[in-house]
Amino acid sequence: METKRTINMKLNPKCLIDPKQDKQKTYITSQNLAHSAKGFILPCCWCDIPEPEKDEQIKKLFNKKLHLDNNDTIEDIILSDEWFNFFSTLTDDTSNASSVCKKYCSVGDNKTVVVKKVIVDNKEILK
Ligand code: SF4
Repeated sequence: METKRTINMKLNPKCLIDPKQDKQKTYITSQNLAHSAKGFILPCCWCDIPEPEKDEQIKKLFNKKLHLDNNDTIEDIILSDEWFNFFSTLTDDTSNASSVCKKYCSVGDNKTVVVKKVIVDNKEILK
């Protein structure tokens, strides 16, 4: 038997500048925004995945209202509720952060792991 477990996921979002020091909850994004071929601005190029609709967090950044054709400035997009909510998962709700962010910006060994065996005192307690 195997089971998937997420253990205390910690993120160090490369797209945010010192998010943990920001007590005002205003997110300062870095200068490395990405521009998808579909016409959307994204926090980084890793978010430009082939099927964004399959990722609960990233699909919000592909909302039609955030398309470049529907906005006058980049600021209109990155100051949207969708972007704010996306960033808030990176700092306050990491268990619900995008799997893309967990893959590229997690810290240490705390990732979703597949547990195949647990051995305690030479006894297998999960097979
Ligand atoms: S993968 Fe996620 S957390 Fe990392 S830089 Fe990109 S948007 Fe930010």
